[in-house]
This record gives sequence, structure tokens and C-alpha cells, in this order.
Amino acid sequence: MSNTTNGSAAPTAVLDAVRSVLGTPTGTIALHEPEFAGQEWTYVKECIDTGWVSSVGSYVDRFERDLAEVTGTAHAVATSNGTSALHTCLLLAGVQPGDEVLIPALTFIATANAVSYASATPHFVESESTSLGVDARALDDYLTEIADSRDGESFNRRTGARIRALVVMHVFGHPCDLDALAELASRWHLVLIEDAAESLGSTYHGRHTGNVGIVSALSFNGNKLVTTGGGGAVLTNDPALGKRAKHLTTTARVPHRWNFIHDEVGYNYRLPNLNAALGCAQLERLGSFVERKRRLASRYETAFENVAAARFLREPAGTSSNFWLNAIVLDESLAPRRDEVLAMLNDAGYMSRPIWTLMHRLPMYAACPRMPLPMAESLEARIINLPSSPRLAD
Ligand SMILES: *Cc1c(COP(=O)(O)O)cnc(C)c1O
Repeated sequence: MSNTTNGSAAPTAVLDAVRSVLGTPTGTIALHEPEFAGQEWTYVKECIDTGWVSSVGSYVDRFERDLAEVTGTAHAVATSNGTSALHTCLLLAGVQPGDEVLIPALTFIATANAVSYASATPHFVESESTSLGVDARALDDYLTEIADSRDGESFNRRTGARIRALVVMHVFGHPCDLDALAELASRWHLVLIEDAAESLGSTYHGRHTGNVGIVSALSFNGNKLVTTGGGGAVLTNDPALGKRAKHLTTTARVPHRWNFIHDEVGYNYRLPNLNAALGCAQLERLGSFVERKRRLASRYETAFENVAAARFLREPAGTSSNFWLNAIVLDESLAPRRDEVLAMLNDAGYMSRPIWTLMHRLPMYAACPRMPLPMAESLEARIINLPSSPRLAD
């Protein structure tokens, strides 16, 4: 309909496309709602009936086994949330106080905060427009300009700090270009960490996300595809790291029948059995969640084919996305009117949100090192998330 991007037609065209997918709401259609239609109540009730509600219990063990199986990783360690899982990943990667850790500027705050918890400095890197993930080529050029490699480590020539790790993130569930990023990480002696908080159920060339990073983090917050109320997990294929993840997140207690011996400063990052029970029931429904979300996404994709002023964010070639949050990218010409589009959608009952504010614009991260971020800044101004609950496909 709308090829004009300077009149009122463009925002209306976006609204019409959303309405054609979701119908006319009576109340407000949420951005992402959890769904408890399986064994959730049965498993949680069992915890209460047996008294096994806290940090040990059979559901924790089962949730970890189920997660490893679903993701195809050798080891999964459940944690209290995704941020604590990321913090643990950074410690497992050997990040030391004063190190720099490369992370996208276009991410949720948890990625940057976890780096701060490890007393390291986030160093913000550019994103590309296909997956919205880290731009491997731009990062490689940038590192060539600012970094030195010696004795199997890389250093920032400008700050003198060691650059220890690269955290990549699968934005809205769309896998980033893991092959290119793994190759870059290996050439620059960086430990690759996947922030897979948004990508449970997403695959890259047939492998579940979270397998390419040395360690990876998942989140089960209430707005994620699978929720435990609050929760997270560390994934790894390295048995030693899996063991160490469990140790660090369970107060570093040395196993003994009764003695309380702890051999380092550990963390109480355990996921309670109550939450793990919810997670086990939710994981049983993962296939149904992903199938319905992909169906919803394909309806949005079709609806936006005729909207000139916005493109629907598709899954990158060679990947299968869980489409955790559906997103449209407004045309450059419509970017100045983003808030008008948001107001129109929200007023009509379609909860819609802009993407996160870029990390380097936040006061506590404003002074951190960063590469030029023209694409991240352009995307920040143009992305809108649309209602994405699995039930919307029914
Ligand atoms: C949700 C999320 C996390 C983890 O968040 P928690 O609320 O701590 O579970 C981390 N990174 C990204 C990109 C996320 O979306």
C-alpha cells in the first residue's frame, strides 16, 4: 500500500500489517507472555508436597540433564538467573580484573553488567544488519588497528589492557554468524562466549546455539521462551569447565558427608528445585513453543512483504530461529517517526517496544572503549518489537 514515507501512510501501513496478523484486540496484546499448559502445576506441587523446594532436589538434576539433551551440549549447570550464568561464564573464561571483554553495544544490559561483576571492562563492538549480531568483518579490521597479539594473548594497544574474551549474542533468537566469529576469536586468542539467553530452540547449521562458544549462558526469566520464573544455565562441552561451573555456582563447597569446607570464594547462584520443576515442565513444551512462534513469524513476514517503509527481520541463512521476539526494521526515512509508529501500535492495543538503548549511551558505560558503531546506532533508531507470544499463532 504505502510507498510514501513522508506522509501519514507509512506508520498506518505498519499498523495495518500488524492488525492483519493479530486481529483487533479487546485489551492489550502483550509483547511476550509465558504459557503454563503442561505439567507445571503437577511438578511444582510435588516440590511443595515433599518439602524439596530449595537449592537441592531431583528437579535441578533433571532440568540440567534435559537442558544438555535439548541443546546437544555435554554439560548444563542451572543458575539463579541469566546474568549469574553470564558472570560464571566470564570467570570460567579466565577473565581477570582489569581485562577487557568485547561485547556488542546492541545487547541487553545483563551482558555488560556481567563483565562489570568480573571487575573487567566492557569494550563495545559493532553489529551487522542481517542477524543483528556482532559484525565479524568490522571487528577484525578494528582489532587489526588497535590490538597486538603476543604469547597467545591479545592486548589493546591504546589502553594496555589484555582483551580476554568475546561475548556474542543471538538477538531476538536469531543466531549470529558463529563460524566467522569463532574463526576470529581463535585467531585473536579470545575466549568465545555465547550469550544464548534469547536463543533456546534456535540452531546454526543444524547445531543448537550455545555449542560453539567455550561456555554459553541461557536465561529463563519470565519473558523468555521457557521460564522458571527466574533462572539461567551455563552450557559447555568441556567436562572440566562443566565441573567448575557447578562448583563456582554452589558456594565452592568441597563434597563431604558433613564438613563445610569451601576451597575458594564461590557464589550462591543455585536455581531452587521449585523453579527447576517449572523449567522441566516448560522444556517438555519447547517444541510446541518454537513451532507456533515460527508460524506467527511467517505470518508477520507475509504481512510486511507489501510494506515499503519497514522490513520484517528474517532468520539468517543457514539458521533456524526461535523468533523469541518478532522485530521490524523501519526504513531510514521512517526512523525519525519511530515514536509515532510506537504510539500508534501501543494505542491500538499491540504492545510494541523499541530495541535496547545502546550500552555506551548509559552513564556507567559511557567511558568504556568502543569501536565505531554506525550500524548499531542506525539499528537502535529503527527497530520495533511486536507481540510474540506462542498463543498468538493459535
Ligand atoms: C534475558 C537476557 C539475559 C539474562 O537476563 P536475566 O534476567 O538475568 O535472566 C542476558 N542477556 C540477554 C541478551 C538477555 O536477553
